[in-house]
Order: sequence, then C-alpha cells, then structure tokens
Amino acid sequence: MEQFDKGKLFIISGPSGVGKSTVISKVMALRDDVCFSISVTTRAPRQGETEGEDYFFVSPEKFEALVAGNLLLEHAEYVGNRYGTPAEYVRETRESGRSVILDIEVQGAAAVKDRMPEAVMVFILPPGAEELENRLRHRHTDSEEKVQERLLQAKRECEKAHSYDYIVVNDDPDIAAKELDSIITAEKCRAAERLNYI
Ligand code: ADP
Ligand code: 5GP
Repeated sequence: MEQFDKGKLFIISGPSGVGKSTVISKVMALRDDVCFSISVTTRAPRQGETEGEDYFFVSPEKFEALVAGNLLLEHAEYVGNRYGTPAEYVRETRESGRSVILDIEVQGAAAVKDRMPEAVMVFILPPGAEELENRLRHRHTDSEEKVQERLLQAKRECEKAHSYDYIVVNDDPDIAAKELDSIITAEKCRAAERLNYI
C-alpha cells in the first residue's frame, strides 16, 4: 500500500465533453501540490491544443514503440485513437511527494487501479445526457460522426461510475472544481497520510 510520504494518485474519468479538462485546469490553478500527467496519444491535435501541454501527439508507430518498451503505465483505445500514460512521470512525481492527476478513460482507470490499488478514483458526470450532447457539439472539435461515437461511448462509460470512489456532477464548473479540490484535500488528510505527525 501507499506510504504516507509518497504523492497520491487521482484518477479522473468521465464521458468526453463532460468538462474533465475544464475542471482539472481550475483545480490546478487552485493548488500547487498536484501535477497533471500529460498523456501520449495518436489523436490529431485539436485547434488550440499544444504539444507537451495537452498531450504528447505521436504517430501510431511511436505509440507502439512506447508500448513495446513498457514505458506506459496503462494504455487504451478510444474512438479509434490510442491513449497512454507515461509511467516514468507518474513514478518520479509521486516519489518527490507531489500528487498526480490522470485524466483517463474507464479501461485505463481499471488497469491503473489493479496495479495501484491506493489510487483514488473520481468520476465526473454531466447534469444530464442532453447537456453532455450540447457541450460536445458546442466545443466544435469533432465531426458529427465522432460526436455520435463519443455519445455512444459516454453511455457505456457512465455505467461504470458506481465503481468509483467519488462522483462529481459538473453543472457549474467552479463548484465541480471546488468539489474535486475538496476530495484531494480530504484524501491528503487521511490518518495514514499524517503518521509522521503522531
Ligand atoms: P472533456 O475534457 O471532459 O472532454 P472539456 O473540458 O473539453 O471536456 O469540456 C467540453 C466543453 O464543455 C468545453 O467547450 C467546455 O468549455 C464546456 N464546459 C465544461 N464544463 C462546463 C459546465 N459546467 N457548463 C457548461 N459548459 C461546460
Ligand atoms: P480526448 O480525445 O477527448 O482528449 O480524450 C478521449 C478520452 O481519452 C477521454 O476519456 C480521456 O480521459 C481519455 N484519455 C486521455 N488520456 C488517456 C490516457 O493516457 N489513457 C487512457 N486510458 N485514456 C486517456
């Protein structure tokens, strides 16, 4: 199990378009004790996305080489693209005592939880299915076909929400960010994290 002096691991999942990036960015602005793990993906960058900030954008061949080299903590396919978490960053950051946030889909989340049972799992839900569709459409980043695929995937993903430790409903993004911030704070106040003060 996790030692008290090691940074914690927070897994954030939720359907595409629910506002994971929005809420995580707000939390990152509120605190400096958590770091965001930048994933590797074969997906093309969206307008406004920056290499090394939003993702490391790689070719399918490069992605395969990372898998073959055992350099990813987990990886999964999502709506025709591959996504993975660089293992070294998570290990080094936690070793330094800082916590790490992963924004990953449900299969990857389950794989990390298997390997690291101490991980805290948070699922972000939309206030309703219609609102999720609105957000995906209004983001203007995906074709109609991709929006439909993401909505289908969203239904499957939300069925897994009950197996997470916490659920945040993203109606107002500031309230959702406060809730996630509170979860992080509460997890850091666990007695097991404070043994050095006893
Ligand atoms: P995800 O990372 O889960 O795919 P994003 O953070 O990209 O989602 O958010 C999808 C869209 O919804 C963006 O246009 C974002 O500005 C918007 N959004 C996020 N949270 C809310 C909210 N609580 N209310 C309304 N729109 C939101
Ligand atoms: P998007 O293309 O909208 O940025 O991300 C699509 C999905 O991939 C989201 O559910 C997001 O959480 C997930 N994702 C992003 N990075 C990773 C990763 O490293 N591993 C896994 N398994 N999923 C990821």
